[in-house]
Amino acid sequence: MSTTTWIDEDVAAINARFESAHPRAVLTWVFETFEPKKAVMGTGFGASGVVLMHFLEQVKPGATVFYLDTDVLFPETYNLRDQLAARFDLNIVRVHSGLSLDEQAKDYGEKLWNDDPDQCCFLRKVQPLREYLVDKSAWLTAIRRDQSPTRANADPVEWSEANDVVKVNPLVTWTETEIWDHINHYNLPYNPLHDEGYPSIGCMPCTEQVEGEAEDPRAGRWSDSEKKECGLHLEPEPTEG
Ligand code: SF4
Repeated sequence: MSTTTWIDEDVAAINARFESAHPRAVLTWVFETFEPKKAVMGTGFGASGVVLMHFLEQVKPGATVFYLDTDVLFPETYNLRDQLAARFDLNIVRVHSGLSLDEQAKDYGEKLWNDDPDQCCFLRKVQPLREYLVDKSAWLTAIRRDQSPTRANADPVEWSEANDVVKVNPLVTWTETEIWDHINHYNLPYNPLHDEGYPSIGCMPCTEQVEGEAEDPRAGRWSDSEKKECGLHLEPEPTEG
């Protein structure tokens, strides 16, 4: 599908309209444009994700929020998931690869995240995401331009060739400061690891504490390698292996 056929509107015009729009306006458009059951938010329960869930509940109570359970998330992340499920009227869905850690160790080695993190991310994140989105129309994310150079050119509304869905990023223009002001103002729950030097939190084997405030916010992710993204937000389609 080309970017000109997935909706009956001009994408550039939509993005021009949403560049300075409130996230609620973007979310309202999503649920007016797509079948509500086919518009789903994905999150790793980071600070931006918490803010987007807050807005999502206001616009569409009961909407679906999915997360990719790699089996190696931090205990604090699972705990936050439970707090958010109790706080928000949202349908939180676990998406899993179907591949246990034992099976992965048997087929690919004990520490695939060290030996070949791209393949580990493909097996535990990228492929499950693609399978989950196969019958969806819109994928909502909380990515922001200021998170990393790989996200600096993100638009509010994009076509995800890799996942065959419209990708919507309502917080794309928000800053780190705005996110934390919102969380503090509304007393929203957040991952306590953020207060312990983890600005970006992913899987335990691939997330480290970051020294000081000056580093890249995602510097603690795959810090021993050049890898900066798990592949979920990379286009064109990530390659296997
Ligand atoms: S972040 Fe690390 S542990 Fe998680 S799926 Fe990717 S390589 Fe595997």
